[in-house]
Amino acid sequence: MYEKEREELIERLTRWGYLSKRDVINAFKKVPRHEFVPQNLRRYSYADQPLPIGHGQTISAPSMIAIMLESLDLKPAQKVLEIGTGSGYNAALIAELIGRDGQIFTIERVAELAEFGRANLKKSGYGGVKVITGDGTCGYTREAPWDRILITACAPEIPQPLISQLKVGGKLGAPVGRHYMAQTWIVAEKLGEKKINVQERGGCSFVPLVGKYGWKEE
Ligand code: SAH
Repeated sequence: MYEKEREELIERLTRWGYLSKRDVINAFKKVPRHEFVPQNLRRYSYADQPLPIGHGQTISAPSMIAIMLESLDLKPAQKVLEIGTGSGYNAALIAELIGRDGQIFTIERVAELAEFGRANLKKSGYGGVKVITGDGTCGYTREAPWDRILITACAPEIPQPLISQLKVGGKLGAPVGRHYMAQTWIVAEKLGEKKINVQERGGCSFVPLVGKYGWKEE
């Protein structure tokens, strides 16, 4: 189902310059986005727009996800932490990129969404992704350190525990900025225990990262 729509979306994202890396394109080809979208919105699954998934949260637009994944050089056998499981779609793409020898843990603070993401992943063949309910701003020390960390909600700054839990040589991608506006997608590379190189990769708009090292709960 939806193969033609998926092909067309990938073709557009490639033409617009969001997708260029072969492995990222292959991951987009493989993962059925419509399985991660609420039933009543399925017909919009392959439009380039964010979609509501309940609890005031959204599954990001495909072009935004392409920017995130293309900026982080995800490779087979890496160990990856995602903060903000939401629908689980991005976690499934990461699972494709890191392959069978990779490991991905994803944390979601809203219990119902963690359940939604877990169920979507399982039914689409990504049952190996480990979904944890909790505050991702504290990271996940039990499984640290990480080759890659992706944050899919926006904080005023990168939570310190996540930088600590990154391997030297590892990369972290995150939207940093204010509530819903003036946000920048940044890639931080850990060059040494105390040395971080931060690059800005363009504007973006994400829901707030709410937690101990993010925004306070309202
Ligand atoms: N990656 C998701 C998009 C998620 S939207 C996808 O592919 O569908 C961002 C998600 O981050 C929301 O579900 C929100 O509840 C969650 N979130 C916000 N603050 C969080 C925190 N401190 N820890 C874990 N998840 C958080």
